Amino acid sequence: MNTKTVQKISYGVYIISSRKGEKINGQIANTVFQITSDPPTMAVSINKQNLTHEYIRESRVFTVSILSKETPMTLIGLFGYKSGRDVDKFSGTHFKTGVTKAPIVLDSTVGYLECEVLSETDVGTHTIFIGKIVDCDLLSSAEPMTYAYYHEVKGGKSPKTAPTYVKEEEPKTATPASNRYRCKVCGYIYDPEKGDPDSGVKPGTPFEELPDNWVCPICSAPKSEFEKE
Ligand code: FE
Repeated sequence: MNTKTVQKISYGVYIISSRKGEKINGQIANTVFQITSDPPTMAVSINKQNLTHEYIRESRVFTVSILSKETPMTLIGLFGYKSGRDVDKFSGTHFKTGVTKAPIVLDSTVGYLECEVLSETDVGTHTIFIGKIVDCDLLSSAEPMTYAYYHEVKGGKSPKTAPTYVKEEEPKTATPASNRYRCKVCGYIYDPEKGDPDSGVKPGTPFEELPDNWVCPICSAPKSEFEKE
């Protein structure tokens, strides 16, 4: 069995949000797909350890914000690598409350869906929630981000709690490994050849010359959490 085959499946990058009473939370997910058009239903796969899982279970609603190609890694890092148990992800995030009373992230969002859970399936580490779309709208004509673009162009990594997580092999780039630095928290690799344009770091900037307040674009870890490859 060649398990690399499943990596050929295409995905997008989304923020799934929900609520529990007055509390709100959201997380990044790539496994979101439409199941039927009449009635319009969607499925999402959410890790049981995640706070958003607890909230969807409780409120039986979730929203899907479809992220654009231009989404900064800081937004993906906040919603993908931080837990709502530790930080309030919405305090610095532009959002609105939908008809389901769940939050809808508006930053970098191409469009959104709001769903009421119809059923759920236990799949071990994750639960697949199937929801009926009760509202949706387009917010911009920007191109949605694909999971492949997130990995190849943005240098994004999959957290271990992602349904499609696989241990990644060493990236093949022109930069000698000795000049690249790896984030010990999330596995992101700072490649001086690429720099970190989202944070204003020009391509060609050596790790040593990054400003002291520079942080990992994925998980916000400080420079001290990086080690030479
Ligand atoms: Fe990191």
